[in-house]
Amino acid sequence: MSVVGFDLGFQSCYVAVARAGGIETVANEYSDRCTPSFVSFGPRNRSIGAAAKSQVVTNCKNTVQSFKQFHGRAFSDSYVQSAKSNLVYDLAQMPSGSTGIKVMYMEEERVFSIEQVTGMLLTKLKETAESALKKPVADCVISVPSYFTDAERRSVMDAAQIAGLNCLRLMNETTAVTLAYGIYKQDLPAPEEKPRIVVFVDLGHSGYQVSVCAFNKGKLKILATAFDSELGGKDFDDILVNHFCEEFGKKYKLDVKSKPRALVRLYQECEKLKKLMSANSSDLPLNIECFMNDIDVSSKLNRGQFEEMCAGLLAKVEGPLRSVMEQTKLKKEDIYAVEIVGGASRIPAIKERISKFFGKELSTTLNADEAVARGCALQCAILSPAFKVREFSITDVVPYSISLKWNSAAEEGLSDCEVFPKNHAAPFSKVLTFYRKEPFTLEAYYNSPKELPYPSATIGRFLIQNVVPQASGESAKVKVKVRVNVHGVFSVSSASLVEVLKTAEGEEPMETDQTPKEEEVCVLCVYALGQQYLPRLKSFSSLLFQTTTEDAKQEKKNDQPPQAKKPKVKTKTVELPIENNLDWQLSSEVLNMFVENEGKMIMQDKLEKERNDAKNNVEEYVYDMRDKLHGVLEKFVNEADRDTFSLKLEDTENWLYEDGEDQQKQVYIDKLAELKKMGQPIHERYMEAEERPKAFEDLGRQIQMYMKIIEAYKAKDEQYDHLDELEVTRVDKHVNDAMVWMNSKMNQQNSQDLTLDPVVKVEEIKAKTKEIYSACNPVVSKPKPKVEPPKEEKTENGPVNGQEGTENQPCNPDKAMPAGTEQETAENKLPEMDID
Ligand code: ATP
Ligand code: MG
Repeated sequence: MSVVGFDLGFQSCYVAVARAGGIETVANEYSDRCTPSFVSFGPRNRSIGAAAKSQVVTNCKNTVQSFKQFHGRAFSDSYVQSAKSNLVYDLAQMPSGSTGIKVMYMEEERVFSIEQVTGMLLTKLKETAESALKKPVADCVISVPSYFTDAERRSVMDAAQIAGLNCLRLMNETTAVTLAYGIYKQDLPAPEEKPRIVVFVDLGHSGYQVSVCAFNKGKLKILATAFDSELGGKDFDDILVNHFCEEFGKKYKLDVKSKPRALVRLYQECEKLKKLMSANSSDLPLNIECFMNDIDVSSKLNRGQFEEMCAGLLAKVEGPLRSVMEQTKLKKEDIYAVEIVGGASRIPAIKERISKFFGKELSTTLNADEAVARGCALQCAILSPAFKVREFSITDVVPYSISLKWNSAAEEGLSDCEVFPKNHAAPFSKVLTFYRKEPFTLEAYYNSPKELPYPSATIGRFLIQNVVPQASGESAKVKVKVRVNVHGVFSVSSASLVEVLKTAEGEEPMETDQTPKEEEVCVLCVYALGQQYLPRLKSFSSLLFQTTTEDAKQEKKNDQPPQAKKPKVKTKTVELPIENNLDWQLSSEVLNMFVENEGKMIMQDKLEKERNDAKNNVEEYVYDMRDKLHGVLEKFVNEADRDTFSLKLEDTENWLYEDGEDQQKQVYIDKLAELKKMGQPIHERYMEAEERPKAFEDLGRQIQMYMKIIEAYKAKDEQYDHLDELEVTRVDKHVNDAMVWMNSKMNQQNSQDLTLDPVVKVEEIKAKTKEIYSACNPVVSKPKPKVEPPKEEKTENGPVNGQEGTENQPCNPDKAMPAGTEQETAENKLPEMDID
């Protein structure tokens, strides 16, 4: 499985992977670790990431950005409607009522759902991870803002599915940062020490998130979170843009907002200016040439003025800090460190305010841009069986309290109760018990709508089906498991009916409860017993949620009308189907269609890339050959051929800008083949001439070496006196023949014109070298017969008989590695993550 973390940012994304060496943030095809959250649609393909961002001015209507904010939102949502007026691209309503994006793609007007657009971005990030890991990627962990509601989270999960990803966990951004910090920090408290409290602040482009975490040995527990979705880098950009729109309106009489292209350029320049102001407090210029109506605009600003303009925004910094301190009832002295991440945390006025609030220096242990992705990759490594990560556990919190409501028996109307209070540990499951005679519906909702940055408090409705009364006619016991899962999403995960099989006096009751293993479970009881018990139920229902299984059983006993000794019962549990009705949830048919369409678009992008590559190959060949024909190749072509070829190259260049501008891939392939037919022979003659001297030199060296050995043999050299005379004579002849062959070829070639094909090819010379080696080497390298080997102690690494080298020993031209050395095979070990 792959171990990958994706930081799906509002403005930019990061990809981190786990490898044997640890966690690594990986670069995209532009060698950049940051991939802009942009998708651009063209007449033939899509561009995603950096390639899309580069089209934000030239193709502004079809280049989409800042779309993270539309996940899980109705098109009619007032937030969407107000954001729409600031966008240069169009939004549209999807058939389901959710938000879609309207663009021209493949020369047609198309509306893509927000899940599809994020799916496209994830496709790109997935490819980045795949090229870094050199294997397919599916399993991953993806980040979302901690303030995302269920509908927004489910929408991101759908986007992951469209991109063919298996998201093991949607991780809150600040939680990912906490994990990255916990694993890399050396100074975690020792077992005997108090837990250490660290505050994390992530100020990104779209929002401001604060969380408080208690570190206790390897256990990381988030205690509380707070946020402000209206305080992010983009809000500072908006203030700057509005300021300059007003100024240019007065100074140059320009209505900037009426021209999308000008507005996009102003946003880019304002963001640059904002970043410069973080590092510099003096006056800084803002100049844009040919801004609108051929007018150049210029202005300037300094940090002091900027801070004055943003006073309202800066005043919002304290709110979430105060909120987490109040929620946790901690004092400022309890805080061990305040770690800040996110691009906009670099704004000096923000840092000052946070630091002043806590009365301490801020800590910047982590890479402010990459921490979220790294935390996600770490979480993925923890979930993966392929990695060993030092024992670490992290518990998150429920950001908004969740209640359930349901219809009680007809007369009593609605009942409701809070199942997960704010800051309750997550993931977490609870079991609720109902007594019912018929199917019933549970509605889950956020019970503090004022806290929500989202217009609807409803999470969803869950119909518990197939509920029937007991054989006796009494209400059946229905156990319902509700949970906030690893993605931070609420669900009714299962329901079961406890059927009473038979009543047998004195028999022990059969245990049918199965404790779910994957998550902590707290067992609850809710008794919807009917009219006579209802007032009592309402009064203690909130207490019941704190009780254990045993207590719950006790409560139940107390709640029953007094009876004589009850007979023991045997029961059977029947799983009940649940019908989910969730807001903005894509149906499986629609999701499958999106998956299929994404596949088609990936294929279309691939084909377009191949077509472009084929075109570029023609262009490159034309330029390359044109230079060389008057350079290195000049000597290897006669004048007439050179003129014809030059003309052909020139024609092709013109064709590329005219008829050849937009052709099928095969047309370019054929064009290149046509050019190569003329260019290749010239190029080959050049290559032959380049390589020929060395080939002759190698052959000559080999001939000389054998000649020396033959001479030594003839001079009765002791080293060769064991060789067979007849064989040596044969070697002698071979070597002489080779010498004659070489001299004759060299002479012929020297008098051959370079514009003609060579008399002898490099390959033939190499073959001749090999031939004399195979004919001569076995004869001359025959080992001397052994004469009484002296009894010596074996030395390690000493020469092995028959392998000792003599100076004149020819070496096989085929073999690059000395014989007998084999590379050690790598041990097949699990990669261990070095977390220190
Ligand atoms: P989000 O977390 O909201 O989804 P994101 O992860 O894409 O968004 P970041 O990359 O953390 O956001 O931050 C981007 C923001 O930080 C942009 O508004 C950018 O202009 C701002 N930023 C980056 N560097 C600086 C700087 N030096 N000074 C001021 N602002 C900066
Ligand atoms: Mg971010």
